[in-house]
Amino acid sequence: YRLCEESGQCSTLLSRNDVIGNIARLLAADLEEDLQNNKLTLFYQPQVDYAGNITGVEALLRWQHEYYGYIYPPLVIALAEESQIIDKLGYWIVETACSELENLAALGCDNLIMSINISVMQLENEFLVETLDQIAKDHHVRHNNLEIEITEQLALSNNPDIIERIKSIKKHGFRLALDDYGKGHSSLVYIKEYDFDTIKIDGSLVQEILNNNNCGNIISSIVFLAESLHCLVIAEYVENEAQRNALHHLRCDYYQGYFFSEPLPENDLIKYLQSEKRNK
Ligand code: C2E
Ligand code: MG
Ligand code: MG
Ligand code: MG
Repeated sequence: YRLCEESGQCSTLLSRNDVIGNIARLLAADLEEDLQNNKLTLFYQPQVDYAGNITGVEALLRWQHEYYGYIYPPLVIALAEESQIIDKLGYWIVETACSELENLAALGCDNLIMSINISVMQLENEFLVETLDQIAKDHHVRHNNLEIEITEQLALSNNPDIIERIKSIKKHGFRLALDDYGKGHSSLVYIKEYDFDTIKIDGSLVQEILNNNNCGNIISSIVFLAESLHCLVIAEYVENEAQRNALHHLRCDYYQGYFFSEPLPENDLIKYLQSEKRNK
């Protein structure tokens, strides 16, 4: 209601950019309120090996707006960055993911890796790494059970503070993953700077693997690169068995995608893990 009324009024008085700015401001206010009232959730998507054994999960943000419904996560992150609540949201994400890892350990799954996405502005915060460290300790989470995912956009930063902070994530014993590799420029320059544990092959390559030979060749070269650097490779967007087999043939280590599981709410993740145990 507020959104319609306020932005409607604006449209006669203000420029298009101001109207859009107002809409963003109002949505961001709703986001902050929902964050405060614990109405955001994390879903967890399994990462599995060729045999289907789960090795880790990626935490993915979910925000269901009271009127507008599901809001695409990159938009939520952009809103939070724009409205300066990204640190609050980012710490909530880390806190929630660590507390989930603590729950899972209590249920006997104590060797899962929890992957958490970190945005550009989160890395601008000088306290990021020590806060990660503190939250992990508070939840008795081993640092090498947490994997921080960064994208190329971040890895390419030439801001010395950000470069130091990325390195410091590793120095503190957390795992570091490069997300969406094969999507943007896929530069090699930063790969030598950071000691990645994992390279995640972008879903766009995986989706084309069966009908475009070039995609297979590109994936093969990424796997070769990863092997030379002693990194693990996770392929994203694995949607069917044929893709999984093709990726296995190219020596991909791990898989994530709808073929194995969609991102799951906490309860369904626990069911997934329990049924996996029974099947062994
Ligand atoms: P991402 O980190 O690359 O996450 C993987 C995305 O692929 C997720 O989208 C997931 O739901 C989707 N996906 C998984 N399997 C399949 C598949 O088989 N097919 C297809 N088509 N898609 C699949 P989602 O959850 O919509 O998130 C989109 C992006 O939003 C993420 O991409 C990440 O960049 C960002 N994001 C999500 N949660 C967070 C968060 O907690 N913090 C930050 N900073 N960014 C987040
Ligand atoms: Mg990711
Ligand atoms: Mg990705
Ligand atoms: Mg992606």
